Amino acid sequence: MSSIFSKIIAGEIPATIVYKDEYVTAFQDIHPIAPVHILIVPNKEIPTVNDVAEADAMALGRLFIAARKIAAEQGIAASGYRLIVNCGEHGGQEVQHLHMHLVGGRRLGPMLAKRD
Ligand code: AMP
Repeated sequence: MSSIFSKIIAGEIPATIVYKDEYVTAFQDIHPIAPVHILIVPNKEIPTVNDVAEADAMALGRLFIAARKIAAEQGIAASGYRLIVNCGEHGGQEVQHLHMHLVGGRRLGPMLAKRD
Protein backbone atom coordinates (compact mmCIF):
# COMPACT_ATOMS: atom_id res chain seq x y z
CA MET A 1 0.00 0.00 0.00
CA SER A 2 1.24 3.49 -0.82
CA SER A 3 2.15 5.88 1.97
CA ILE A 4 0.18 9.10 2.35
CA PHE A 5 3.27 10.90 1.02
CA SER A 6 3.36 8.70 -2.10
CA LYS A 7 -0.27 9.68 -2.69
CA ILE A 8 0.65 13.38 -2.37
CA ILE A 9 3.59 12.88 -4.78
CA ALA A 10 1.25 11.12 -7.25
CA GLY A 11 -1.27 13.98 -6.97
CA GLU A 12 -3.92 11.64 -5.54
CA ILE A 13 -4.43 13.69 -2.38
CA PRO A 14 -3.98 17.45 -2.05
CA ALA A 15 -1.00 19.26 -0.56
CA THR A 16 0.68 22.60 -1.06
CA ILE A 17 3.67 21.54 -3.18
CA VAL A 18 6.56 24.00 -3.03
CA TYR A 19 9.21 22.05 -4.99
CA LYS A 20 9.38 18.97 -7.24
CA ASP A 21 12.08 17.31 -9.33
CA GLU A 22 12.84 13.79 -10.54
CA TYR A 23 14.12 12.70 -7.12
CA VAL A 24 12.24 14.65 -4.45
CA THR A 25 8.99 16.47 -3.72
CA ALA A 26 8.46 19.10 -1.01
CA PHE A 27 5.19 20.35 0.44
CA GLN A 28 3.84 22.30 3.42
CA ASP A 29 3.43 20.30 6.63
CA ILE A 30 -0.26 20.10 7.48
CA HIS A 31 0.46 20.90 11.18
CA PRO A 32 3.27 23.47 11.07
CA ILE A 33 5.35 23.98 14.22
CA ALA A 34 7.03 27.16 12.95
CA PRO A 35 6.37 29.89 10.33
CA VAL A 36 8.21 27.71 7.80
CA HIS A 37 7.61 23.95 8.07
CA ILE A 38 8.09 22.01 4.86
CA LEU A 39 8.50 18.28 4.33
CA ILE A 40 11.05 17.18 1.72
CA VAL A 41 10.39 13.62 0.60
CA PRO A 42 12.16 11.24 -1.80
CA ASN A 43 9.80 10.30 -4.65
CA LYS A 44 10.86 6.70 -4.05
CA GLU A 45 9.09 5.28 -1.02
CA ILE A 46 11.82 4.44 1.50
CA PRO A 47 10.05 3.64 4.81
CA THR A 48 12.72 4.71 7.31
CA VAL A 49 16.43 5.49 7.58
CA ASN A 50 16.85 1.81 8.51
CA ASP A 51 15.80 0.93 4.95
CA VAL A 52 18.25 3.24 3.16
CA ALA A 53 20.35 1.51 0.46
CA GLU A 54 23.49 2.52 -1.44
CA ALA A 55 21.31 3.04 -4.52
CA ASP A 56 19.39 5.75 -2.65
CA ALA A 57 22.45 7.99 -2.29
CA MET A 58 21.45 10.36 -5.10
CA ALA A 59 17.87 10.81 -3.89
CA LEU A 60 19.03 11.36 -0.31
CA GLY A 61 21.66 13.87 -1.39
CA ARG A 62 18.97 15.69 -3.35
CA LEU A 63 16.99 16.17 -0.12
CA PHE A 64 19.76 18.55 1.00
CA ILE A 65 19.97 20.29 -2.37
CA ALA A 66 16.20 20.85 -2.25
CA ALA A 67 16.48 22.07 1.37
CA ARG A 68 19.05 24.67 0.36
CA LYS A 69 16.90 25.90 -2.55
CA ILE A 70 13.67 26.00 -0.54
CA ALA A 71 15.31 27.77 2.42
CA ALA A 72 16.51 30.47 0.03
CA GLU A 73 13.08 30.76 -1.61
CA GLN A 74 11.41 31.00 1.80
CA GLY A 75 13.83 33.77 2.86
CA ILE A 76 15.31 31.87 5.81
CA ALA A 77 18.75 30.92 4.44
CA ALA A 78 20.51 33.72 6.32
CA SER A 79 18.53 33.50 9.57
CA GLY A 80 18.96 29.73 9.71
CA TYR A 81 16.74 26.71 10.07
CA ARG A 82 16.70 23.11 11.25
CA LEU A 83 16.53 19.90 9.21
CA ILE A 84 15.03 16.94 11.08
CA VAL A 85 14.70 13.29 10.08
CA ASN A 86 12.83 11.12 12.58
CA CYS A 87 13.28 7.33 12.57
CA GLY A 88 11.10 4.73 14.21
CA GLU A 89 9.15 4.72 17.44
CA HIS A 90 11.68 6.43 19.73
CA GLY A 91 12.44 8.96 17.02
CA GLY A 92 8.76 9.89 16.84
CA GLN A 93 8.30 8.96 13.17
CA GLU A 94 4.60 9.00 12.30
CA VAL A 95 4.65 8.55 8.52
CA GLN A 96 6.50 5.49 7.22
CA HIS A 97 8.00 7.27 4.21
CA LEU A 98 11.39 8.81 4.94
CA HIS A 99 11.20 12.61 4.99
CA MET A 100 13.18 15.65 6.05
CA HIS A 101 11.46 18.44 7.99
CA LEU A 102 12.68 21.93 7.05
CA VAL A 103 11.73 24.16 9.97
CA GLY A 104 12.50 27.85 10.45
CA GLY A 105 11.22 31.39 10.46
CA ARG A 106 11.72 31.76 14.20
CA ARG A 107 14.37 30.94 16.79
CA LEU A 108 13.89 27.22 17.45
CA GLY A 109 15.37 26.78 20.91
CA PRO A 110 17.13 23.67 22.18
CA MET A 111 17.30 20.66 19.91
CA LEU A 112 15.52 18.27 22.30
CA ALA A 113 13.02 18.74 25.09
CA LYS A 114 14.66 17.81 28.39
CA ARG A 115 11.79 15.47 29.31
CA ASP A 116 9.00 13.64 27.48
P1 AMP B 1 7.15 12.46 11.38
O1 AMP B 1 6.64 12.49 12.79
O2 AMP B 1 8.60 12.81 11.25
O3 AMP B 1 6.78 11.16 10.69
O4 AMP B 1 6.40 13.64 10.64
C1 AMP B 1 5.23 13.45 9.89
C2 AMP B 1 4.73 14.82 9.53
O5 AMP B 1 3.80 14.68 8.46
C3 AMP B 1 4.00 15.56 10.66
O6 AMP B 1 4.67 16.80 10.92
C4 AMP B 1 2.59 15.78 10.08
O7 AMP B 1 2.03 17.02 10.46
C5 AMP B 1 2.83 15.68 8.59
N1 AMP B 1 1.70 15.24 7.79
C6 AMP B 1 0.91 14.16 7.99
N2 AMP B 1 -0.02 14.06 7.04
C7 AMP B 1 0.22 15.11 6.19
C8 AMP B 1 -0.43 15.55 4.99
N3 AMP B 1 -1.47 14.92 4.46
N4 AMP B 1 0.04 16.67 4.39
C9 AMP B 1 1.10 17.33 4.92
N5 AMP B 1 1.74 16.95 6.04
C10 AMP B 1 1.30 15.86 6.68
